[in-house]
Amino acid sequence: MSTYVTANPTTGVTERDFPGLSDDELGGIAERSVTAYRAWRDTPPAERAEALARTAELYEKRADELAATITTEMGKPAKQAAGEVQLAADIYRWYAEHGPDLLTTETLDPQGADSSIVQSVPIGPLVGVMPWNYPYYQVARFVAPNLLIGNTIILKHASICAASSALMAEILHDAGVPEDAYVNVYAGSDQIADLLANPAIRGVSLTGSEAAGAAVAKVAAENLKKSVLELGGSDPFILLDTDDMARTTKVAARARLSNGGQACNSPKRFIVLDELYDDFVAGLVENFEATTVGDPSDPSSQMGPMSSISARDTIDEQVKTAVQQGATLHTGGAPIDRDGAFFQPTVLSGITSDMDAYAEEIFGPVAMVYKVSSVDEAVALANDVDFGLSGSVWSTDPERAEQVADRLEVGMAYVNEHGTTLPGLPFGGVKRSGYGRELGRWGMGEFVNARLRRTS
Ligand code: NDP
Repeated sequence: MSTYVTANPTTGVTERDFPGLSDDELGGIAERSVTAYRAWRDTPPAERAEALARTAELYEKRADELAATITTEMGKPAKQAAGEVQLAADIYRWYAEHGPDLLTTETLDPQGADSSIVQSVPIGPLVGVMPWNYPYYQVARFVAPNLLIGNTIILKHASICAASSALMAEILHDAGVPEDAYVNVYAGSDQIADLLANPAIRGVSLTGSEAAGAAVAKVAAENLKKSVLELGGSDPFILLDTDDMARTTKVAARARLSNGGQACNSPKRFIVLDELYDDFVAGLVENFEATTVGDPSDPSSQMGPMSSISARDTIDEQVKTAVQQGATLHTGGAPIDRDGAFFQPTVLSGITSDMDAYAEEIFGPVAMVYKVSSVDEAVALANDVDFGLSGSVWSTDPERAEQVADRLEVGMAYVNEHGTTLPGLPFGGVKRSGYGRELGRWGMGEFVNARLRRTS
């Protein structure tokens, strides 16, 4: 049995314990999930959609409480927490409105004498393993399409998100999702492996680190279960030209420091053509130094702590190593001298391919700036990592930027924006950033049985 212990990263003080499930209880949950699945898949899609629409309403009604919970639990600044709650509500509403139409029955060979149709039907109970960085959004993008399809869900959230995961379950049940169609579990890694081995479970979706993804995908494969993985990234932000450097650096800083830099698709590598490089670095440093870092519940704080002391220590170690290996530190570079898991907004440059920082993801408020002398060099550098989540290209000439964006080995390529997430747009990566897609119709397609029915 694994107990979840949550600490407030702003103070470093332990807040609450949440007792975990016993192995017997976990097996029972899998069986109950199958029973719930048989009833839920036979519930008319319109009724399932109604439950999602009510979920969206309840998220909006309880927005303050939801936002305050993650601010305490993982340190998200109040305004950003409110934005995340609204995004989760928007996702539930989007699937309530569009989901039933996406559950298509496609007729093949309409001229033929016989009828061949492909139906979209659910596959059964699924396990979700979710991370702490966007506690509501990450869950919503897995849960909303799958409940709409008729699958049932057992959700294992990050252990630091024990309170917000309990709230999500309460809201879904209040909205009309049957108790056993969505079950929140406090479970350890071994228990998740046991759950995936249970014949009742049909698939798993994980968002998190490469290590967690590989571990869960391995167990899923051994048990012939489908997996979807959304892992890390070291996304490039390529600057080709600008007529407003002040605005460009402000947007770049905001994108990098949002959520304390703890986003898989945050721009982490800024790749700048040499004639713009000095001005870009100066502007980025100015914006990083002007960022208000403080108590995330204070509305004036633009950045809060890292999600935990150990997350902060990992970033500290990565930055120290980069500097020891020869990187140039322009600003920041150390934890902030106060209680909690605070780290200074940090700008590094001069990173070369022999340094650890070149290849690894830094999951915190750290920008790495690279100088290049041509577009070809920019593209080569952007693609020269094992990750392939998203990337952006910035220019006053959108057509030129689109041509460059088309050369990026990523799942999401943006021009003059970075990281836009909307309920109807696909989200996911290539290479070591994972496989499969979430959101939009693509998110609906991952755990669906495209069943052929043909009558002669
Ligand atoms: P993890 O990948 O360890 O955690 C994500 C989720 O996976 C949590 O629910 C965690 O549970 C669970 N988990 C971890 N290992 C296993 C396993 N073997 N079997 C089943 N479940 C498992 O992320 P961390 O919090 O440790 O963060 C480390 C790094 O991961 C970050 O620095 C960042 O690089 C990356 N990351 C990427 C995210 C993204 O959005 N793509 C989000 C979060 C992290 P528990 O909390 O109980 O350990």
